[in-house]
Amino acid sequence: MARKVLVLGEVRDQSLRNVSFEAIAAGKTIAEGGEVVAVLLGDNVSALSTELIHYGADRVVAVENEKLQTYTPDGYSQALLSVISEENPEGIVFGHTALGKDLSPKIAAKLGSGLISDATAIEVTGGNVVFTRPIYSGKAFEKKIVTDGVIFATIRPNNISPLEKDDSRSGDTSTLSVDIKDLRTIVKEVVRKASEGVDLSEAKVVIAGGRGVKSEDGFEPLQELANVLGGAVGASRGACDAEYCDYSLQIGQTGKVVTPDLYIACGISGAIQHLAGMSNSKVIVAINKDPEANIFKVADYGIVGDLFEVVPLLTEEFRKLKV
Ligand code: FAD
Repeated sequence: MARKVLVLGEVRDQSLRNVSFEAIAAGKTIAEGGEVVAVLLGDNVSALSTELIHYGADRVVAVENEKLQTYTPDGYSQALLSVISEENPEGIVFGHTALGKDLSPKIAAKLGSGLISDATAIEVTGGNVVFTRPIYSGKAFEKKIVTDGVIFATIRPNNISPLEKDDSRSGDTSTLSVDIKDLRTIVKEVVRKASEGVDLSEAKVVIAGGRGVKSEDGFEPLQELANVLGGAVGASRGACDAEYCDYSLQIGQTGKVVTPDLYIACGISGAIQHLAGMSNSKVIVAINKDPEANIFKVADYGIVGDLFEVVPLLTEEFRKLKV
């Protein structure tokens, strides 16, 4: 059954986040041959429309308004609900990002629809669109279908592959003028924490440190390895609690959920709360002095050893491969 599916293109610092392209691929599956319409919200964002089309969107609708310059639940809800009422989609897809997690339940409640959150896979079988999503902190997966109303889902970044970029694709782009009513929240200024390079939640390679890293300086060899591999540094709560690094790096049940191609856990014991945030990574490498450490149970490759010896050796070898 062909459907019209609306996909949110998420913009940060005037460029599209990768999850937007993954959402288009998810939208294509749900659309079953129907139309995928990408939506851009912001101030001066319509220049990004072409890229969405190159990644598979059939059409792009941009809502440009200075009140949408930074994300506010109020402003984005008003803009999106206007697009939804104009387009009347049968499916909606957002990334399961901080923004998507905040906005999707609000929109679903306004529409009176259900919401399948944090989908890691979507397929069409037996005439149904079937979503796979983790439950019990990632220890099990459930499959869900929507039997009535709009098919609304958020997708976990790094799980659904984007379509191959095709620069020859073309599609309609338009703008929709929306009168955004007074916002209850006004963002005066966004102050970003200084962070080196790659965004942790979208990184293809994550080098994570635990209490075994022993100090703030102990993260330096991890950062070096991350730089060589073009990855991001993450941490266990143990390391954050010990003030070796900032809580924004925390991975796990109460931190970020990451699914990179490669996850290297350094000096992390592998508590269930940590595994909840990383056990779906494609390849897991664990470095730990303790051969009995729980992290080895989920690791594809285990190195029993001192991280301060092993990590610099890995960095050196990967550096050689890059030359
Ligand atoms: P530890 O358990 O102390 O492990 C340190 C490891 O380093 C050990 O295995 C040790 O053998 C190894 N090691 C030491 N020195 C070296 C060395 N030189 N070389 C190699 N290995 C070495 N935790 C999270 O991570 N994320 C969460 O989101 C999270 N949420 C939580 C929510 C709740 C409600 C609760 C109760 C707990 C939560 N925790 C979370 C905490 C979790 O239970 C663990 O306490 C925490 O993950 C432990 O961190 P760690 O593995 O770094 O430290």
